[in-house]
Amino acid sequence: MSLIVQKYGGTSVGTTDKIKAVAEKVAKFRQQGHDVVVVVSAMSGETNRLIGLAREMQEEPEAREMDVLVSTGEQVTIALLCMALKKLGQDARSYTGGQVKILTDNAHTKARILDIETKAMRADLDQGRVVVVAGFQGVEEDGNITTLGRGGSDTTGVALAAALKADECQIYTDVDGVYTTDPRVEEKAQRLERITFEEMLEMASLGSKVLQIRAVEFAGKYNVPLRVLSTFKEGPGTLITIDEETDTMEQPAVSGIAFNRDEAKLTIRGVPDTPGVASKILAPIGEANIEVDVIVQNLSADGTNDLTFTVHRNELTKAKSVLQRVGDELNAREVSGDDSVVKVSVVGVGMRSHAGVAATMFNALADENINIKMITTSEIKISVIIDEKYLELAVRSLHSAFDLDKVEAS
Ligand code: ASP
Ligand code: MG
Repeated sequence: MSLIVQKYGGTSVGTTDKIKAVAEKVAKFRQQGHDVVVVVSAMSGETNRLIGLAREMQEEPEAREMDVLVSTGEQVTIALLCMALKKLGQDARSYTGGQVKILTDNAHTKARILDIETKAMRADLDQGRVVVVAGFQGVEEDGNITTLGRGGSDTTGVALAAALKADECQIYTDVDGVYTTDPRVEEKAQRLERITFEEMLEMASLGSKVLQIRAVEFAGKYNVPLRVLSTFKEGPGTLITIDEETDTMEQPAVSGIAFNRDEAKLTIRGVPDTPGVASKILAPIGEANIEVDVIVQNLSADGTNDLTFTVHRNELTKAKSVLQRVGDELNAREVSGDDSVVKVSVVGVGMRSHAGVAATMFNALADENINIKMITTSEIKISVIIDEKYLELAVRSLHSAFDLDKVEAS
């Protein structure tokens, strides 16, 4: 017998019929002898609806009031799910974040979990009850309701699993796992049997929006086995673990191809090649709260430097005006911006033990005549910045170059 935390997202509990279907799944699982703690999101669209209501009252409502408002979405789902379970003859009890006592800091709308009390939940489990907890919310020291940021129910699930030392945290969603790349771009994309936390973080931060990044970080930190699986389709899903040692021999060099369409590129040309210049250029960008991603510097034949870096597309205009100012101070030859670039990355812990991943990647892109504008690497990732019109072609050719079309999914 095991203790499992199951989290069901908004699309899985989007209607009363869907909530009934979740109740059946949960009850069946419970009948197999497992202890089950269920975390639910608000019914799909509900959180956005509530935020919309708030905007009708005030342009910028206080964060404390926002939390009182948006936490109601999850409160509805926990009660309805418990009713549906009881109708099936399965005893259950609902808990808001405050009732469990999911203690957070007081950073309203983006609170962090500090501690979770498990006593009441354990007592219910011992009585054979299913425990149903509202995702996304907690309570701070003074008793005020807090929320954990959009998509925060994933984090609630993982945090509860860590606190209860659960055997697994299962995230039920509308996709049946984590894929080698976005199936909308490459239909040959395969579901991965397993992926490491590290790889998942790279995939997630690069735009595979299956899981809230904070939840993956949390799971990695506390070593909670995490499984992503479909609510609507039977299957093993994808297991996300720390365990990368066991099958290193079998490990392909690359686990997936990630991409990000939100990139924009800025260039400042003809700045002095002297110490401190890169800092003079990038410090004001940081001060303007703009995150810089890839950076490349090249020395021109005339002895001056060109510096190119990427930022989020939404920040291009702001970044360009900061850079223009810096350019004037440094007597730069030119400042330019380009928002028609994307980032494509190959990700895999297997890269550590396989040489030649970069060569394979660059060859595949060259074969398609795709020009690489910038390159950056980390231990388990190689990313290139390319023209956005080549995104689909690049993803597909890399997917095939690294044999991902053929990954065995059982
Ligand atoms: N209901 C919240 C949101 O939409 C939390 C969640 O679904 O994870 O962001
Ligand atoms: Mg969600």
